[in-house]
Amino acid sequence: MTFITKNTIRHLALIFTASLLSGIFFILPDFIIYPTTGPKGTIYTILHWGLNCIPLFFLYYLLSINKYVFAVTIPPLFLVGTLIGYYSYFYKATLTPMILDATFHNDIGTSLDVISPLLIVFVVLSIFISILFIRFRFRKISISKPVFHLLGSLTILILLFSINKRVTTSFYQHFPFSLYYNFSEYRKLNTNKNLDRTYPDTVFNYNSEENLTVVFIIGESLRADHLSINGYHRNTTPLLAKQNNLVSYTNIYSEYTYTNPSVAHIMTRADSVHTERSKTETSFVTQFNNSGFYTSWIANQDAAITYYSFMAECDTLIYVNPQKSVYTYSNWIDEDILPEMDKMLDRNDKNRLLILHTIGNHWYYDSHYSEKFKVFKPTTRSKILTQNTTEEMTNSYDNSILYTDFFIDSVIKRIEGMNAILIYLSDHGEALGEEGNWLHASDNKYLKNPACLVWYSDIYKEKYGEKVEALKANSKKRYRTDFLYHSILSAAKIPSSIIEDELDIFWTSSGVPTP
Ligand SMILES: [Zn+2]
Repeated sequence: MTFITKNTIRHLALIFTASLLSGIFFILPDFIIYPTTGPKGTIYTILHWGLNCIPLFFLYYLLSINKYVFAVTIPPLFLVGTLIGYYSYFYKATLTPMILDATFHNDIGTSLDVISPLLIVFVVLSIFISILFIRFRFRKISISKPVFHLLGSLTILILLFSINKRVTTSFYQHFPFSLYYNFSEYRKLNTNKNLDRTYPDTVFNYNSEENLTVVFIIGESLRADHLSINGYHRNTTPLLAKQNNLVSYTNIYSEYTYTNPSVAHIMTRADSVHTERSKTETSFVTQFNNSGFYTSWIANQDAAITYYSFMAECDTLIYVNPQKSVYTYSNWIDEDILPEMDKMLDRNDKNRLLILHTIGNHWYYDSHYSEKFKVFKPTTRSKILTQNTTEEMTNSYDNSILYTDFFIDSVIKRIEGMNAILIYLSDHGEALGEEGNWLHASDNKYLKNPACLVWYSDIYKEKYGEKVEALKANSKKRYRTDFLYHSILSAAKIPSSIIEDELDIFWTSSGVPTP
């Protein structure tokens, strides 16, 4: 009996040590950068970290029941854990489906390919430690009734993953379950990409003679009423205010209040009657492809299943920050898009469509603007909403708009000498404490009036004066985000057979010819 107890203690000590080391080196780096404030914030972070170590303990327990399984699984797990912990700690980078996509399909233009001597030391050390664990397991531990242990640990794991959705989501964001989650998300993205979608148009192989640059910026969480050019009391858009060729559409309605369905809706012919088109039809990108435009998508956001196939429709797909997820609380800014945009402009394609998917004004606001734009103070100090005041939340959000103002202005500066048109449309708005609502993805009116801006170059105005006149004339009209699909085809003079004039902001009933 005494022997069994000692054996059990040794077994638990082994699993506990392995979990603690993994927790500290593989999971804790994710939590160190969490912005929180005061002892309450620290306790919250420690509890959150501890919670994520619990399923790891039972996974190690499960793997340790058979010593051969333990010997085969522990070294690769420690190796991958070391890589994840290292990049999380030193590069604020996390494993994402985009990292995998970039690794397998695209160029990855980040600093992540740096392999330092320190990383090699960590890797060697982790393999050495895993061998010590395996030795201990083989020499000091024997397990009787393995089926009992197997069923016990498996049941606890299943229960842990069934507590609630938020807890499960958290488990999937951290080692080792992030491995499973991100590979399965990556697989889903690629399966979805290959699903057959129908091409709704009758225009094929049209050779556009226009010499035109079309830029579509997909904004994030920017509500129209927080822009000073729309009458907001704070000066949040000083640079855009100086742009003469800018038209603000203040009356856009977004049915969807979070990114995934909203972007899919915007990119396709879907409308309030035919919502399913976002799932069954190709996006406007294919019309551009078929009209001789070189198309590129520069993503500073997660790829989601709902719109990944549209990204894949583009000739080029670039992820500028594939190592970031909305669960990383570190500097993640849209300026990183600009060098990639410059590369696309340097290609000198005659006609081109650039889609810039921005992180924009997404929570955690302070991560998405640089220090220079910290104008409204005090700003938020914690990712825990209740630790911030309404004033701090609003200040941080407005600072992120100052940054968006700078970003859009920087994009305009790059194309102002060309025959060019730019459309900016945010995917939805953001609640800032109204009636107790915060952030987005809920159902309230503060999320349904996204910012929308259109800018045209002088050359564009000269060439298509009637379109510009219509654009100005329509600016106070109310449109659903359905307008985008029809309007961007019209802006590019693509002779589509399916543009609905009433949804085309470049058309007026007073007699502007359709292309
Ligand atoms: Zn969004």
